[in-house]
Amino acid sequence: MGGSSLALFLDPSNAAHLIQDLGALQHFGYQVPELLEPDEVRSLEPAVSDRVAAGLLIEQERHVRPETLTEALLTGLGKQGVQVRAGVDVVPRLDGKGRLECLDWNIGRVEADAFLIAAGVWSKKLAGLNEEEDPFGSR
Ligand SMILES: Cc1cc2nc3c(=O)[nH]c(=O)nc-3n(C[C@H](O)[C@H](O)[C@H](O)COP(=O)(O)OP(=O)(O)OC[C@H]3O[C@@H](n4cnc5c(N)ncnc54)[C@H](O)[C@@H]3O)c2cc1C
Repeated sequence: MGGSSLALFLDPSNAAHLIQDLGALQHFGYQVPELLEPDEVRSLEPAVSDRVAAGLLIEQERHVRPETLTEALLTGLGKQGVQVRAGVDVVPRLDGKGRLECLDWNIGRVEADAFLIAAGVWSKKLAGLNEEEDPFGSR
């Protein structure tokens, strides 16, 4: 983790959009950065092209390294006796009412009282939901 982030814009109106988005995060303690003029941007980062018309220094931005994070998660899960199976293609099986009944994968079938599906944008598909359905509804 560490560092801040300097966002660069060829069109200042795009910076205004980001300022608006960050405004919504003020509630969580995020500060909304000031819009930087091109010369202010270049004083922070001299290598920036002349085409850059505006910038935002987002001091509270932080980064995690995905591989370190994933490794730590796997270690933590392993300590709790959780089995992780990588590289499997999970296929949902729905009951007659379209409710998720069990999951199939290439190592067998998994049945459970409840499933936590964390498949990103594919989660709805995996849960047998159509686009309009609430992913947080009970299935
Ligand atoms: C171009 C880009 C840049 C981004 N940059 C940032 C950034 O700078 N900072 C930030 O915070 N966020 C960023 N994001 C957003 C961030 O990547 C997502 O919010 C985050 O990855 C969501 O995590 P997730 O675990 O919910 O889903 P995912 O990371 O999408 O993981 C879902 C997993 O489920 C697997 N899966 C799906 N279907 C199945 C199936 N049937 N069987 C088996 N496996 C399946 C997929 O292969 C995938 O590995 C970015 C996203 C994109 C696209």
